[in-house]
Amino acid sequence: MPAQPSPTRPTFMEVDLAALDANYRYLKSRLAPGTRVIASVKGNAYGLGIVEVSRRLVALGADALTTGAFTDALAIRQAGLDCEIVMFGGTLPDGIPALLAERVIPTVHNMELARAVSAAAVGPAKVYLKLDCGLGRLGVPLKDAAGFVRAVAALPNIALEGIYTHLPFGNAEERDWAQDRTDRFDDFVDGMRREGFAFPVAQARSSAGVLGGIRDRCNAVAPGGLLYGKSPLSPELGDPSLIRPVLKSVRSRLIHVAPAAHDRTPGLHSRHAFRVSGATGVVPFGRADGNRAAVAGRAGHMLVGGIVAPVLGVSSEHAVIDLSAVPDPRVGDEVVILGRSGDRAITLGDLAEWQATSGSDILLMLSGRMPRIHLG
Ligand SMILES: *Cc1c(COP(=O)(O)O)cnc(C)c1O
Repeated sequence: MPAQPSPTRPTFMEVDLAALDANYRYLKSRLAPGTRVIASVKGNAYGLGIVEVSRRLVALGADALTTGAFTDALAIRQAGLDCEIVMFGGTLPDGIPALLAERVIPTVHNMELARAVSAAAVGPAKVYLKLDCGLGRLGVPLKDAAGFVRAVAALPNIALEGIYTHLPFGNAEERDWAQDRTDRFDDFVDGMRREGFAFPVAQARSSAGVLGGIRDRCNAVAPGGLLYGKSPLSPELGDPSLIRPVLKSVRSRLIHVAPAAHDRTPGLHSRHAFRVSGATGVVPFGRADGNRAAVAGRAGHMLVGGIVAPVLGVSSEHAVIDLSAVPDPRVGDEVVILGRSGDRAITLGDLAEWQATSGSDILLMLSGRMPRIHLG
């Protein structure tokens, strides 16, 4: 059952699965035939709903899903999906038995994890090895990687299924860095293959690598943001209009309309109303929903009937908006937080700009308790 907006808290997001289809097709058009797609659904599928998004990606033909949270992997299994799931890190060695029990392929990025897999597996267990080619997060440094591969391969009950690295970038300078590191990764994998380590899957490109035209000799890609319509690239490196936002809208309703403030004495809670000449409205979209006030020097807004309603304040459960420009606002009127209203629209990029952060950060913040309606 898709979630429905509730009159008790009428704030919800609309997720456009037809846009996911289009982005997946665009992805495929950029890949050499036969390239494996390991679709990233980390962070509750970038806040868009792990089960619905995973089901759609499997239907579209994704070869595997990858997540960073065991709870997300479990949700995929509990939804009855039997697809290959790769865990992109995030676990202690003691967590390995739980992963194997759900047929989740662990990433091995240190010897402790390799030993834990070897001890817990009853037969050869597939693992992916992760190398750190310069990002400085999870992974074995490239300079230590040959010894690591040999040591892991020597353990019983380990099948070296994949090897990968992560080289995200945003601008042209970083792109040169990513290309250089991708070349070194490819050289390393070629060298290990000559030594007899087959590595059926090798992967180095995520969304930035695919959209930004990184050349590699790998047979797999692991895109996330690109599938959801969110390009990590600065405009000089890629045209963002080639992919479509999967988050279609975030909407709510006015739960209260207050007339122009009658008491203009400044105090903690009259701060917002004090600044405006007309009515103010309350929207049930607070910090607990992932809403954040704009940073100093920037001003956010919502749309009521296509008219801009500046955000005056955000508290734990509510936002207060300035309805001065809205004729005859009423309780129950629709409020657009993201998406189209009349001739205007608010994009994920706008919200990110107001809060001085990235679109994916906004998505993850919204991911918490907001009901999601999946369309398409
Ligand atoms: C998040 C992630 C990806 C996908 O990155 P996008 O920029 O969303 O495409 C790929 N690989 C790893 C290891 C990741 O953590």
